[in-house]
This record gives sequence, structure tokens and C-alpha cells, in this order.
Amino acid sequence: MRVEASILRKLNERRVLNAIRVGKTVSRADIQRKLSITMPTVSKIVDELITQGWVMEVGTGDFTLGRPPVMLEINPSSAVAIGIDIGRFCIRVVSVNLLAQVIAQKETSVEDIGTVDELLSRVDLMLVSMGVDPSGVLGIGIASPGSRNPHPDSPQRPGTLDEHIAHRWHRAALDEYFTRRYGVPSWMENDANAAVLGEIWFGSAQSCNHLVFVFADEGLGAGIAVNGSIYTGESNVAGEFAHMIVNLDGGIQCECKRPGCLGGVAHLRGIREELRQSGMDLEEELFSVFARGASGHEPEYSVICRAVDYLAIGIFNLIQVIDPSHVIVGGGMFRLDPFVLKRLNERVQELCYPKRIPLLESSFGVNAVAVGAATLVLQHLYDHTKLVNLTVERVDEPLVRL
Ligand SMILES: [Zn+2]
Repeated sequence: MRVEASILRKLNERRVLNAIRVGKTVSRADIQRKLSITMPTVSKIVDELITQGWVMEVGTGDFTLGRPPVMLEINPSSAVAIGIDIGRFCIRVVSVNLLAQVIAQKETSVEDIGTVDELLSRVDLMLVSMGVDPSGVLGIGIASPGSRNPHPDSPQRPGTLDEHIAHRWHRAALDEYFTRRYGVPSWMENDANAAVLGEIWFGSAQSCNHLVFVFADEGLGAGIAVNGSIYTGESNVAGEFAHMIVNLDGGIQCECKRPGCLGGVAHLRGIREELRQSGMDLEEELFSVFARGASGHEPEYSVICRAVDYLAIGIFNLIQVIDPSHVIVGGGMFRLDPFVLKRLNERVQELCYPKRIPLLESSFGVNAVAVGAATLVLQHLYDHTKLVNLTVERVDEPLVRL
């Protein structure tokens, strides 16, 4: 078997960079032990990474014999990744450093953005006001409800936005537009998929291999990570658990028109609709509605509890199928009152008993999807398997000859 030397070097470069990221502060010998590659190779790669600015030396470490080792860390400010979360009502943009720490963030409404050009101009303005230097941008990640990369047989084009969030941009391959505009690579992904990637690479689940992220906001979705990468399924719709049927007798009506879907009830739109049907005027902020629900006021209490209890059933079903080590939750549902997460956790643990599955809130709060979008960029910096996939797609000859 022969692997091209330049490819092998690039693969090892990614592995070394990731070993430094994971170890936080490591010596060249630590990397050599972890990756089982020769010391001269490690030293050569580390020297190149320091020259290029990705890695920095940060003093000396403990030692017992010989010279003290020089310690290395990622140089987080050497470049930025941009993450763009396009939701049904607003667009959230973050710039993050190489460790996915948010440097700047901005939010705008989608209301008056009519065309893709207007969207790009709005993002331009946001990046300027965030102080982003375009020459330091590594890449752009975009996340939104809907499918990034539909099945080849589907009439939908890759990069297509969900028609519910922005019908005016429907069928626009946004990642291609952003690449053309900024001259850097761009990736587009479903919002919950991006969020699960952010959590498993940089969030509260970095030690996990298998993870589920449940995103409950105006809509409902889940992202599934298997072995550190997004699990997309055959048709690129894995994790669309809003359409999991949880009530055989129907009763709740989802926008997909199937009876009994989780997506008919277990999100903010569902809660609003239920409250409206019970005669409530919903002009006020949802914060007040949830605060009253948390204190037991009716009908708010029963409506919110019903939505949360259905969500718990959906999460339990996902746990049965995926067997994740953790479940992370994010989205507007959990930012309105702590009572929601508390009740959800109680219900999920009751269903899972005697097993206990940690159910945690996203490490990135309101930026969960935007940081996840930026992680689409950072994953290509650290994940050597992404390099293999990219290279295999682009070279004419087989990468590995047997
Ligand atoms: Zn449905």
C-alpha cells in the first residue's frame, strides 16, 4: 500500500493540530506519544505550524530529567471563522477564534431582506460592525432549518433553505453565494446538525462520541453526531424528529398533515397555537407567559407542560434508537424559563429509569446554532478525515493504491 507523501504530511498536520487543541497545553513528546508518529516528524510539523501562526510556544513544562519541554498551544487569534444562523425570524452572526470562542456577535431581523443580494449586503454590514477583518477569515458556515444536501434524486438543490423561513431565497445555494462573495470556503448545514457538531467539538460534550442535540424553538429538530461527525442518513434528513408520530389517536396536527406528530405540539409555535385556541391574547412577550406558567397559572401551565411532556417522549424515543451518552438541548424553548428544562429533565429521566442520561443545556446559549455553523469551518481545520474526503473527491487518481 502506498500513500502519497504530501497527503500523508497534510493528514499528520491536521492530527498534530487537533492533538494540541484537545490537549490544550502539550509538549512535542506528548504529541508523539499520543499519535505514535516519529519525533522528527512531530518536530517538523510543529515548527511549520508555528511559522504559519497556527500554534504558539507558551513556556516550559515540568520535567525530571534533561531539558524542560517547550509547551505548545493553539494560537486562537490567528484566524476567525464566521458562523451564520438563519432562523425563521432573525439572522445571528458570530465570529469565533480557532477554539470556537465567540469574539463578536450580531443579530438582525429577516423581515425586510427580500433577495439573496440583500442578505449578503446585510451580512456585510454586520461583519463590518463586528470588526471582522475579511483577510483573517478562514471560512463561513451557514446553518438553517431544512436540508443542506438533499438526496441526489430530490429536485431540491444543495444549499437550499427551508421554504418556511425564507421563501424569497428558496432554492438559493447560499454556501456558493458566500464563497463567491468572500473568496473563502463556505459550508451549509441544517441548524440542529450544526449545533450538535459545535457541542461535540467545542461544547460540553467534547468527551462524547455519540451525541444528540435537540433544538426546540419556533420549530423542532435534532442533530445526531456519531463518532464525532454529523449523521445525515441516506436522504440527508436524519434527526428530523419533529415528524416522529407520538400519538396514534391523532389529536395534534403537524404542518406535514400527518396526525399525531411531535411537531404539532412540542415547540413555541405549538404552545402559542394551543394558548390561542384556549382564548388567550398573545400580544405580550412569551417571557411573561412562561413565567406565569412556571408559577402554576392556567391555562399556561397545562399547555407548556403538555408540550414539554411530548418533547420528553420524543427525546426518550431518540435515546432508545441512538443510545447517546448525553442529550444537549438548545433553542428558545429553554431560554424563557428554567422550569422548562427542569420539567423536561424530570420526565426524560422517569422514562429512561433505571438508566440515567445526562440532559444538558447547550454551552453556547443563544449562539448554539451560530457557533455550530462556525464549527463547520473549524472541523475542516482539525479533522483529518475531512481532508481525506475532500481529497478523495478532488483527485482523479485513487489516493491509496493497493
Ligand atoms: Zn409532522
